[in-house]
Amino acid sequence: MSMDLNSLKEHYLRCVRCGQCRAVCPVFAGIGNETAAPRGKVFLAHMLAAGELKADAEIAHNLSLCLLCRACTRECPSAVPVHKIITAARSLLAREVPNTLQKIIFKEIWSRSSLLNISARLLRGCQNLGLTVLGRSMGMLPPALDLVGKLPRRPARSFISEVTRPEGAPRIKVGYFLGCATNLMFPHVARSTVAVLSLLGCEVITPRELKCCGLPQEENGQMDVAESLARSNFAAFQRLGSKAIVTDCASCFAALKDSSAFKDIEIMDLFQLLNGLLPGHNLKKIDRAITYHDPCHLAKAQGITAAPRELLTRICPGFREMPGANSCCGKRTAVWNSGC
Ligand code: SF4
Ligand code: SF4
Repeated sequence: MSMDLNSLKEHYLRCVRCGQCRAVCPVFAGIGNETAAPRGKVFLAHMLAAGELKADAEIAHNLSLCLLCRACTRECPSAVPVHKIITAARSLLAREVPNTLQKIIFKEIWSRSSLLNISARLLRGCQNLGLTVLGRSMGMLPPALDLVGKLPRRPARSFISEVTRPEGAPRIKVGYFLGCATNLMFPHVARSTVAVLSLLGCEVITPRELKCCGLPQEENGQMDVAESLARSNFAAFQRLGSKAIVTDCASCFAALKDSSAFKDIEIMDLFQLLNGLLPGHNLKKIDRAITYHDPCHLAKAQGITAAPRELLTRICPGFREMPGANSCCGKRTAVWNSGC
């Protein structure tokens, strides 16, 4: 929900600078200086709101050093909603220090599925011609592009039907939130998600007009765009009568769970839903060693760590914990701080 920084005054004034939030912040763990710490960003937001600091590119950069994982908010003994304060400060900065490139990317392109698809196709064409490698080596393209990987030929949207019938006796009807990354970068994941749910008796609804979940826009201070996307996505599920929604993307899950547009509908992570559906099924075990890395937006933002492990130990006797499973992978921070 959109929030003005001044309306959060009573919250940021509660920060007693105890520093407890620093111990759980993945960005502080990586960068190590006080401006990257949650309490440092709360202080910057406070100074901005009080007019003690002028909104400028340096402040915008410091406040961009956060992936909105909410670990600090969960940890804070004074119940300071750190991630909300940072989001509100970013909205203020987006108004006072507008970044044209960010606006074009997140508002004009990313929030329109047709333009996002065209951009992905163009990027894929450039990848095939070696232009992205050339652009990167000449320093003309942001390093974050290296994280995208080779884009597949077809997005999931091109082969997933709006309604996938269950195999066997129907058990539940569930909406599938097909996020941008799964659609454009990992379509094989979407194919598997829908196939497994259908096999377990779900009628899977994937509205064709789904747009971005709004998290990238929220992270870039464009709350009005994020809220408009959430309303549009909710209407898409309503049109097809979905009473519950599942997603296989941790970031989409966090965005939908926090959105006021989705407050009256059940939002489930795929692990949670599968754990409920699997009992009674005779599963073929996976005969190899498997481990699991916790995504920040699932583990830190929503506190979901047991469900993935429950599922994996059920299907894979060789499941092992990895060291640092709860550490940030670094990808999201790298993307948002890529210089755009
Ligand atoms: S945000 Fe909370 S945990 Fe962090 S320094 Fe302030 S009071 Fe302490
Ligand atoms: S939301 Fe996460 S990344 Fe951002 S300041 Fe808090 S702990 Fe750090």
